[in-house]
Amino acid sequence: MPLSSLGDSVGEMLKDEPHGIVYAPPFDVKIWSGPSMSVQVLCYALVGWLAGVFINHAADALPQRSDLGAAPTCPRCGVLRPSAAWSAVIGHLTGRRICLGCGAPLPIRSVVVELLMPLVFVGLLWRYGLSIHLGLLSLYSVVLILVTITDLEHHLIQHVVMVPAIVIAIGGAFFNQDLTPRRALLGGAVGLVCLYAMFLLAQPVSMLMGRLARRQVTEVPFGFGDVTLGVFIGLITGLPGVFFALLIALLSAGLAAALILVVRAVIQHRYTPFSAIPYGPFLALGGFIMMVYGPEIIQWYIAGGF
Ligand SMILES: [Zn+2]
Repeated sequence: MPLSSLGDSVGEMLKDEPHGIVYAPPFDVKIWSGPSMSVQVLCYALVGWLAGVFINHAADALPQRSDLGAAPTCPRCGVLRPSAAWSAVIGHLTGRRICLGCGAPLPIRSVVVELLMPLVFVGLLWRYGLSIHLGLLSLYSVVLILVTITDLEHHLIQHVVMVPAIVIAIGGAFFNQDLTPRRALLGGAVGLVCLYAMFLLAQPVSMLMGRLARRQVTEVPFGFGDVTLGVFIGLITGLPGVFFALLIALLSAGLAAALILVVRAVIQHRYTPFSAIPYGPFLALGGFIMMVYGPEIIQWYIAGGF
């Protein structure tokens, strides 16, 4: 099918929408004007930083099955962190960056997340203004970044994170200003079907790849956690956004895999084909891009962007 007629069919899909789709330019939704703007930005940046502290705590505690309500401990030796080191940024600033138990420094990841989250939150505030939509998208961003970290560090996307996230996303579908509930729920269903199909295919395909590469495959790169993440991403990006989110995930994962192969071959003089990389971070990337920029990207695609 030529790309232009693909664009037409997406347009056709959207035409049936009973409520119609209003792609308001982001500038129209901004609420801030005058002196309250800087106060809003400051407050929401602070909320973003607290969200970053929470993400780091959850990413350290949840994979070890420890209680989220318990005080933060060192993930390496389990010694309680002094309260000044609950935040990695404050820990670094107050000279408490070394664990008293094992001498491990506060992870760089914690610093990066605490600096990144205020930027993400302020970016969302700039785009949507104070609204229920802003609250939902901020919460969804926290989920996406948390699963990115646990998948990168432990190859884990945990049900304890994804089940509540999916429940919230189903409820949030009725308050999403970019999507109708019908499109959001259909997106969730598409996410489930696509990712479950990939989950079923992953085992035989990776065994075949292993046989071709003449080595034992010990880890399947695609777990059931990826399926739950797919449902969540479908719910927050809707139909047809979920297709674009999956496409972005596939392309970025392919690009990253190729880059890793080249870097390993050049630097380590080692050729290791088909080594497993976690897909969660790429799904989360596709989900985030389509959650925020979905309306513009779909509009651009319908207008014959390719
Ligand atoms: Zn320690």
